[in-house]
Amino acid sequence: MSEEMERETFYTDFLFVGAGPACLSGAIRLRNMIDDHNDAAEENGEEPLDARIMILEKGSDVGSHGISGAVLDPRALSELFPGWKEDDTFPVERFVERESMLMLSETSGFTIPIMPPEFQDHGKPIISIAKFQAWLAERCEERNIEILTATAGNHLLFDDNGQVIGVRTRDFGIGQNGSPREDFEPGADIMAKVTILGEGPRGHLSRQLFNKFDMLSSNPITYEMGCKEILELPKGSVKDGFVYLTAGYPLNGSWGPLNGTFGGAFIYSMGGDRVAIGLLAVLDAHNPDQDVHYMLQKLKLHPKIREILKGGKVIKYGAKAVTVGGWGCMPKLYAPGAMVIGDSASFLNAARIKGIHLAMKSGMLAGEAAFECLLAGEFGESYTKMYKDKIDDSWVRTEMEVSQNFHTNISKDGLPIGAMKYGLSKVTTPLFGASSIVKAHEDHSGMKTLEEYYGKDRSERPQFTKPSSGRYTDLEYDNEYIVDKLHAVYLSGSTHEEMQPSHLLVADPNHCVTTCREEYGNPCERYCPAQVYNIIDDESSPHGKRLQVDFSNCVHCKTCDIRDPYQNIRWVPPEAGGGPQYGDM
Ligand code: SF4
Repeated sequence: MSEEMERETFYTDFLFVGAGPACLSGAIRLRNMIDDHNDAAEENGEEPLDARIMILEKGSDVGSHGISGAVLDPRALSELFPGWKEDDTFPVERFVERESMLMLSETSGFTIPIMPPEFQDHGKPIISIAKFQAWLAERCEERNIEILTATAGNHLLFDDNGQVIGVRTRDFGIGQNGSPREDFEPGADIMAKVTILGEGPRGHLSRQLFNKFDMLSSNPITYEMGCKEILELPKGSVKDGFVYLTAGYPLNGSWGPLNGTFGGAFIYSMGGDRVAIGLLAVLDAHNPDQDVHYMLQKLKLHPKIREILKGGKVIKYGAKAVTVGGWGCMPKLYAPGAMVIGDSASFLNAARIKGIHLAMKSGMLAGEAAFECLLAGEFGESYTKMYKDKIDDSWVRTEMEVSQNFHTNISKDGLPIGAMKYGLSKVTTPLFGASSIVKAHEDHSGMKTLEEYYGKDRSERPQFTKPSSGRYTDLEYDNEYIVDKLHAVYLSGSTHEEMQPSHLLVADPNHCVTTCREEYGNPCERYCPAQVYNIIDDESSPHGKRLQVDFSNCVHCKTCDIRDPYQNIRWVPPEAGGGPQYGDM
C-alpha cells in the first residue's frame, strides 16, 4: 500500500487509545476538569476552554474485548462517581458477603482459617468488566467524549522533533495476499496534542512508544495468563455474593521453586445463577507443556471445586495476559506528547489480585495532567511528566510500591519462602525504595526445553491418548462442563474476517517444525488458549509438517507474543472489529 494514498485526517485535542477502565476514566476526569474550569470562567467573564476528546477502541463495541475477574476495589470509582452505590444503572453483579481461601492438593483441600488481609474483599462489588466499561462509555457519551469503536491504532505519528502527534489507524480491507480488497479503505490519521495509551497488556502502540523513547525499565514487565469461564448453575443455586480463591493444585509449583509454575484461581458468584471461574499462571513457567486452559478444566474436576460448581454448564470463555510485575517493573510513563496508563504500564497489584482501580486512577491522573497541559498550551515532555509526578504523590504509589516484589518473590521461590521474602520486602521497601526491587527476567526466557524439564530421555513427559479437537488429552470433554479449546473459542464469540493477512506474525515458520519442535515440542500448541497454532502434516514441506495459524480463533490474549521462547511471534491488531465478543465477562 502506498504511503502517499489519500487518507482522512481528523483533529482532536486528546486521544485515548483503548476503551478500558483506564482510558474511559481518564477521559471523564479530563472532561470534568474542563467543565469545572469553564463554569468558573463563565462566572468570572473569562474565555472558556475548548477541547475535543476522542477514544479509539479496536473491539466492535466497548466491552467486547473486556475481560477480568472481577471484584472491584471502588476507591477510584468513588472519587470519579461519589454516588455510584445509589445509582440504579451501575452494573453490580453482587456484593461480596463471604470469602474463603482453599489450599488444594490433587484430591483434597482445606480452607485456611483467616483470609490474608491483602485478599479481604467483604462488601466490595463483584462486577463484569465488560458491563462496567459499557457503563463508563455511557458516562463518556453524556460528556461529549467521542468513542470510535472497531478502530485499531496501527502506528504512532511523530512530528519533525520526535513528539507524538497522534495515531494512524489500521487500513481496512487488505486481502490475504496483502493487496487491497474491493472494500479497501485506508486508515485515517488522528492528530492529537496528547496521545494517551491504555491498550491493555503488551499494547501494540505502547511497544512502539517504549522502543522509540527507550522507556522500559531494566526490570522487564512480567505477566501471567488467565483463562476464565462463566458457568450457569441450576436455578436457585446461587444465593449470595461469594468469593473463593485457590492455591495449589493444579499449579504444581506453588509449593516450591523447582517446577517454576505459579499462579492461582478464583471463583466468584455473579448475578442470577451464574458463577465465574478463572485460573492464572505465570508466563515464565518452566514447563514447556503448560496449558492454562487445560489446567482450568483439571481444576473444575477437583472434588472441592465440583461441589461449588455442581450442575454448572459453561456459557462463556475468554483469556487474557495480566501484568503482574507492578511497581517493580513499571516503564517510564510519559514521552513528548504521550502518556501510558493502565495495564499497558503495569498498573496492577498482584498481591491483591486487583488492577481495575489502579488502571482507573492512572487514567484519571493522566487526565489531570492533560488538563494542566491544556491550560499551559504546552504538550512536550516537561509537561506530560506531570502525570508521573501525580502518580508519585497519589495512593497509587503508596499501594503499589510496598508490593513491588510480590510476584518476583513468590514466582521465584514458591509460596512459603516467597511469602516470607515478600513480608520482609514490605518492611525494607519503605526504607530503600527502588534499590530493593528484586530483579525479574523476561518471561520468554523462563521456559525449559523438553530435555531440561523432563530429562534426557523425556520419559516423564505425559503421554495423552484421547484425541479431542485434533489434540491428544487425558480429559473427557462433554463441552458442557469440561470444554475443549475449539468449543471454548466458540463460547468466546471470537471471529475475524478470514480474507485478511494473519495478525499473528511468525518471523520464521520453518523454525517451528525444526528447532522449536525438537527443543520445546511446539509449546504454542499448548500455551495458546484458543488453538490458533497447529502443527499439521504436509507432504510438500521438506520436514513433512508445517505450522498452520488459525488466526480467526484468536482471543487477543497476547500470550504467544510474551511466552514464545524464541520471540518468533508478534501480535499486531487485526482488521477492525475482529476478536472476541465477551459482553458480560
Ligand atoms: Fe492468545 Fe496468541 Fe493464541 Fe491469540 S494466537 S489467543 S494472542 S496465544
